[in-house]
Amino acid sequence: MNEKAEKTYAGKCVDCGSLLELYEVDFRKGIKIMQCTRCGLYHFYKKGFFGKWKLVKVGRVSDLWRKSK
Ligand SMILES: [Zn+2]
Repeated sequence: MNEKAEKTYAGKCVDCGSLLELYEVDFRKGIKIMQCTRCGLYHFYKKGFFGKWKLVKVGRVSDLWRKSK
């Protein structure tokens, strides 16, 4: 049930406004990647102090996290 809640939590694409679906999540690092269901844009989220996901960047490639390190 928790898993479903996590998956259905979705923001909206900053570009086209469509729903986002979960692409990748890493609870240890507190990061999550959501992908737009329509245009495929990736949205990178970071977990904040209160357990709320915060959008930190958006991009066309899924490995922006790795490049930024
Ligand atoms: Zn989109």
